Amino acid sequence: MGQIMEMDKAYIANTYARFPVEIVKGEGSIVTDTEGKQYIDLGTGIGVNTFGLADEEWQNAVISQMQKYQHTSNLYYSEPCAVLAQMLCQRTGMSKVFFSNSGAEANECAIKAARKYACEKKGPEYYNIITLKNSFHGRTITTLAATGQESFHKDFLPLTQGFLYAEPNDIESVRQLAENNKVAAILFEVVLGEGGVIPLEREFVKGMAKIAAENDILLIADEVQVGNGRTGELYGYMNHEIIPDIVTTAKGLGGGLPIGATMFNEKTADVFTPGTHGSTFGGNPLSCAGAISILSRIDAELLAEVRTKSDYIFAALAAANGVKSVHGLGLIIGIETEKDTDVVVKECISRGVLVLKAKNRVRLLPALNIPWEQLKQAIGIIKEVFAEV
Ligand SMILES: *Cc1c(COP(=O)(O)O)cnc(C)c1O
Repeated sequence: MGQIMEMDKAYIANTYARFPVEIVKGEGSIVTDTEGKQYIDLGTGIGVNTFGLADEEWQNAVISQMQKYQHTSNLYYSEPCAVLAQMLCQRTGMSKVFFSNSGAEANECAIKAARKYACEKKGPEYYNIITLKNSFHGRTITTLAATGQESFHKDFLPLTQGFLYAEPNDIESVRQLAENNKVAAILFEVVLGEGGVIPLEREFVKGMAKIAAENDILLIADEVQVGNGRTGELYGYMNHEIIPDIVTTAKGLGGGLPIGATMFNEKTADVFTPGTHGSTFGGNPLSCAGAISILSRIDAELLAEVRTKSDYIFAALAAANGVKSVHGLGLIIGIETEKDTDVVVKECISRGVLVLKAKNRVRLLPALNIPWEQLKQAIGIIKEVFAEV
């Protein structure tokens, strides 16, 4: 075992089962380890490196901000923060943005906003939030409570109260909870990412929007993983002709720097007033400068390319040996197999392709601009692995 791996095992809290790969260099969708071995990266640091590693345009945007200043606090005005908020609002039709540093914080902010909105409008007993079984919304005590998977809850009880779990793609289950409880909001991912890459059906998503509208319940889209171009639309909800009241995002927005954003529509824009929420690092100028560069490149042409690449991957894998089914939307893809997923992932890595897992599925989250040649080569290797292990 290498020196860094030993140090890591000795000094880093034992929360991650890492693969024995130490990355020393990245260039787009190619990463190199300490032995000089190259991998095609279909994981992008879990959907973070939207345009791959060490992307030059993104780097230049960050470096140029770095040379001006790195942080000011939220006591003062700062250009990158305001410009990014304006871009997000103009591209989504939302009205205001709160910046934080991670997906969990973006969701925490949305949950606080929903509770405050409901408390002021309907009364303090309207604190419940409906989420879906198999969802994932973060690791803080409250976002864990929002996460509809008991396996994440155990050992950390009691969690924040007031979360109710509906069955994904079962609209009656949402309706029952909405009509029989005092509910502030429905929080959902259009594709359950960590939950196994399970896309919600269009009718179900529209049904949730309808129930929310009928019962004066806020609709919150968790776009932490599916947002920022990954589904072939700028935000995942845009695939389904609905308009959420609150949209949260993080992972791919910063292109590799930590950032979280919670966007509010007209209805929820003024829920927060000075002093009711905050974040020391939120809206960090470097993260915002990086995000401006990322967002400005997610245009119609790139989104069309995401959809074409998605079609290619679905077609290439659907009928492949050892593959049971392929699910997802755009470039968030989950592959169901009868083989042992852990063995498949390990073997892909050993043959030079970095893939992820979600539940019992192999998960792909490639860079949105992955070159065709590298994508085809990687899919070829994955097919061999599925057929051979
Ligand atoms: C990753 C993820 C989160 C949590 O984001 P962190 O940045 O790890 O806090 C929340 N929701 C979804 C859908 C995610 O995929």
